[in-house]
Amino acid sequence: MSKAKGLLVVVSGFSGAGKGTLIHKLIDGNSTYRLSVSATTRAPRPGEVNGRDYFFVTKDRFEQMIAQRELVEYVSYVNNYYGTPKRFVETELEKGTDVLLEIEIQGALKIREHFPEAVLIFIAPPDAKTLRTRLLGRGTETREQISARLCRAAEESRWMPDYDYLLVNDDLDTAAEELHRLICAQHLRMCHNRAFADALRDDLTRYFLKEEP
Ligand code: ADP
Ligand code: 5GP
Repeated sequence: MSKAKGLLVVVSGFSGAGKGTLIHKLIDGNSTYRLSVSATTRAPRPGEVNGRDYFFVTKDRFEQMIAQRELVEYVSYVNNYYGTPKRFVETELEKGTDVLLEIEIQGALKIREHFPEAVLIFIAPPDAKTLRTRLLGRGTETREQISARLCRAAEESRWMPDYDYLLVNDDLDTAAEELHRLICAQHLRMCHNRAFADALRDDLTRYFLKEEP
């Protein structure tokens, strides 16, 4: 029987909710997950590495990627482009690897259109104040950029009900464990096991219905 395809796991949440921290914790604890590296036109933050955290590209290059259909989805977010390269996602899913996309809400909804079996998980902070504290504490944006991201969070909050799951990132270890268990459970969904179910049904029919005992 051919190997089952990998799961496409979309992780979204407000900037500062802790998505990046949580996903790295998850991947450190389980090397079978692969994180898709997005392309972006935003400038690297201190410590960010091209090809590991993002593919940092110019606006011209990004627009060329759009024109050449190299992206599964893309969005303009707080004055910069962000997009998911198509080839990595398709190759890894074909190999049977679970692929994580850490993307914002509009992109997540586009993924659902193209990949109806993808699972969409929303990472929430315990409360609004904690979100602000985390963004400030990260110290990677100016005050104005933080205000823009918090405004965007308030606007984005109305899309939360479109997600399949909501996971509160309060204690990091607990949240990472919950995320892992959630993905494991997704593998048991019937839509990911149809090939097995069909083969078992064929066997049962062949052995117990059509042949002499
Ligand atoms: P995002 O990727 O969602 O924008 P980050 O992963 O960069 O968010 O996290 C934002 C800040 O919050 C970082 O400084 C990170 O260390 C901190 N953080 C993330 N998760 C937690 C948590 N569970 N408890 C406390 N601080 C956290
Ligand atoms: P940041 O600038 O903080 O790294 O990311 C800003 C927002 O863009 C985050 O919500 C992040 O999840 C989202 N993002 C990162 N890569 C992509 C992508 O490829 N597509 C979409 N739609 N959003 C992305």
